[in-house]
Amino acid sequence: MTRLAELTEVEVISQLVLDAATDLSGLATALLVRSNADGVLAVSAGSGPLAAGLASIDAAGLATIGSWVAAGTSCYTMGDAEGAGFTGHELFRAAGVAAGIVLPLCARGQRTGLLIIAGADPVLTSTECVERLELLALQAASSLLTAAALDELRDRASRDPLTGLGHHASFHAALSAARRSTVPGRRTAVLLVDIDGFKQINDTCGHLAGDRALVAAAAVLSDALRDGDVLYRVGGDEFAAVLEVAEPDDALEVARRLCRAVREAGTATTSIGVAVAEPGEANATLLARADRALYAVKANGRNGVALLPV
Ligand code: GH3
Ligand code: MG
Repeated sequence: MTRLAELTEVEVISQLVLDAATDLSGLATALLVRSNADGVLAVSAGSGPLAAGLASIDAAGLATIGSWVAAGTSCYTMGDAEGAGFTGHELFRAAGVAAGIVLPLCARGQRTGLLIIAGADPVLTSTECVERLELLALQAASSLLTAAALDELRDRASRDPLTGLGHHASFHAALSAARRSTVPGRRTAVLLVDIDGFKQINDTCGHLAGDRALVAAAAVLSDALRDGDVLYRVGGDEFAAVLEVAEPDDALEVARRLCRAVREAGTATTSIGVAVAEPGEANATLLARADRALYAVKANGRNGVALLPV
């Protein structure tokens, strides 16, 4: 319980709860089911031989199982595998469960999910054991809610609130990660995208229209990237992307596509500087090169792309 209260990572908490649930109950399988923002239940973690079968129960089935503990009580079933069932018990039987315990996860007045513990043999669980599991579920729900809130704060802190894109620091972290994970034969490329004459949009149409143009440009640029490539907002009207490419020409081609997409959307044009990392090159040098390429496009009349030689 003390360890659980100290943890702040959802995955680590989940694993500890599953381990503690099987340890305390003597049953081999445990599942964490969590409700999303719309109250729909989904399995979030599981361990043990019956976990795969139980994890295939759909949201409606999980809602039925959740209804067993709607009153906030734990529900533990069977001991008699052939006995008369109750609504939904066949979901358990079909997954090979002969002994099962369902505990509600409740924290700060919210129903946040379920802890399901199951075994393949019809054994009875003592009241004392269930009481200990109820304490575990109470602490699990509280720790998971705190960790989820922290995750959300971390996520929000890593994003620009206007466009929802990752910001400057997220871009630098992504660039470092990409440089570390680039496989032989592939290279990391950086695209720096700046909207042309953006000050004029603000000046003539107002700051709100400027904001809307930024959001629209972010959407067009994101859509024009390949699946898996991520766009960041690294400054006022400046965006950036990290790509993995085989050839510098591939990066230039993506830059041309982005430039064309914004132009065709009709509200603005962009200038894009491209740089492809040399082996062992510092990120700062790489970014300075992309920046010089961007300013070369600006100096050359804007609405285009450039990649400067090293
Ligand atoms: P250039 O073609 O040389 O890029 O000219 P520009 O007018 O786009 O000049 P620059 O990129 O230097 O101007 C960026 C402007 O973006 C300056 C700033 O007032 C404005 N800006 C920065 N952040 C925001 C924002 O969040 N919303 C709005 N509406 N404007 C912003
Ligand atoms: Mg600009």
